[in-house]
Amino acid sequence: MSTGIINDIKKSSAGFDINKIRGDFPILKEIVHGKSLCYLDNAATTQKPKAVIDTLVKYYSEQNANIHRGVHYLSELATKEFEDARIKIKDFVNASSEKEIIFTRGTTESINLVANIFNKGVLKDGDEIIISGMEHHSNIVPWQLIHDQKKIKLRVIPIDDNGEIIFEEFLKLINEKTKLISIVYISNSLGTVNPVEKVIEAAHRHNIPVLLDAAQAIQHLKIDVQKLDCDFLAFSGHKIYGPTGIGVLYGKKKLLESLPPFQGGGDMISKVTFEKTTFNDLPYKFEAGTSNIAGAIGLGTAIDYVSKIGLEQISKHENEILDYATESLLQIPELKIIGRAKHKSSVISFVFDNIHPHDVGTFLDFEGIAIRTGHHCTQPVMDRYNIPATSRASFAMYNTKEEVNVLVKGIKKLIEVFN
Ligand code: PMP
Repeated sequence: MSTGIINDIKKSSAGFDINKIRGDFPILKEIVHGKSLCYLDNAATTQKPKAVIDTLVKYYSEQNANIHRGVHYLSELATKEFEDARIKIKDFVNASSEKEIIFTRGTTESINLVANIFNKGVLKDGDEIIISGMEHHSNIVPWQLIHDQKKIKLRVIPIDDNGEIIFEEFLKLINEKTKLISIVYISNSLGTVNPVEKVIEAAHRHNIPVLLDAAQAIQHLKIDVQKLDCDFLAFSGHKIYGPTGIGVLYGKKKLLESLPPFQGGGDMISKVTFEKTTFNDLPYKFEAGTSNIAGAIGLGTAIDYVSKIGLEQISKHENEILDYATESLLQIPELKIIGRAKHKSSVISFVFDNIHPHDVGTFLDFEGIAIRTGHHCTQPVMDRYNIPATSRASFAMYNTKEEVNVLVKGIKKLIEVFN
C-alpha cells in the first residue's frame, strides 16, 4: 500500500484545497524507491486526475465506436461526446467557433500542420519565418524540413542572458518577406513567459500572422485567443492533465479556410472521384482519418477539471510555488539557475559546476524526486548558455512548498555526496 507524501497540507494561500486536489490524482500516492513520489516533471507531462482516467475507462467500456460515419446508437453517442469536447475546448480558449478547433496528436503535429499548409498555400522561395532563440525543437525542425523543399529563411530572435527575447532585435527582423511569426508562449527550458501580446501587435501592424506554441502555457495561464488575437495556437492535451496523443490547433476561421489540407484520407473529404476530390468543411478538412476519439473526450474532461478549479487560482498557487522554489534554490551557493526572466512560469532550470545533470537526476530519483535532465528539446538554448544540459524542476497545480523542501533537501544531500 502506498502512502501520500504529505498527509496534512494546509490550504494553499491561493485559496484552493490542495489536499483535495492531490487526492484527485491517484499516482501522487505512489512510492518510488521506498520514498513518497515527489513529482516535479510537469513540463514533460502532467499527471491525470481520476475524472480523466474514469472518462477513458467509460469511453472504452460503454461508448466506443467510430465517429461521424455511423447511424447506429454507439456511433452517434461517440460523435456527440467527441464534438462536445471540441465545444469545451472552444469555450476554454474563447475561440469564436468550434470550426476553429482542430484535433491533432499534440503541439508537435499542430505546428507541423501549419508548416505544411503554409508550405503548400503561402510560401515562396525567399520568404522568411521568424522564431525565437528559445524554441522547442518542434518549432524549429518543421520549418527546416520546408527549407529542404523551398528556399525559405528562418530568422531567429536572439535572447539575452536572463532568457528574455530582445524585442528591438525582433522588430528589426520583420520585413516584407516575413510570412509568419511562430513563437513559444512559455519556454519549457527557461520558464520565460514571452511578451506575446506585444509580438502579435507588432506582427499585425505588418499583416503578418502569428502562431503561438502554447504547450507550456495552456495549463498555467488563462488564454483568450480573441483577446490575444493570435492567428494560430498549438497545445497538447497531456500537458493540461489530459491524455497523451491528443492536442489542438486553434486557427482563425478565415485563415484556415484559405489554406489547403494537411493530410489526405477519410473524413476530410466532401466528394472523391479518381479525377478530383473536394474537401470537407472546417474543422474536418484538417482531420484526416480516425481521430484519437477517447483522447479528445478525455481532454474535454481535463478541461472541465481545470475550469472548475479556475486557471487564475491555479496560476496564483503555481506562482507562489515558483517564487518559494526560486528563493530556496538561490540559497544553495553551488547551484546556478539558468533563466532569470522577470516574468516566469512553473519551470526552474539549474546547473552545478562539477555535477553533471544526469547524475543530479539519477541521485534525486533515488530520493523519490522526479525531475528532468538534458537539453529539454531546446539544444539552441543550451548552446546559448554554453552548457550541455540542465536539471529542470517544473510545477503543476498539485505541487506544494513541502515538495520544494524535499527537492532542496535532496540537492543538499547530492552536493554532500559529490563533494
Ligand atoms: N513546445 C514546447 C514549449 C514544449 O514544452 C513541448 C513538449 N515538451 C512541445 C512543444 C512538444 O509537445 P508534444 O511533444 O506534446 O507535441
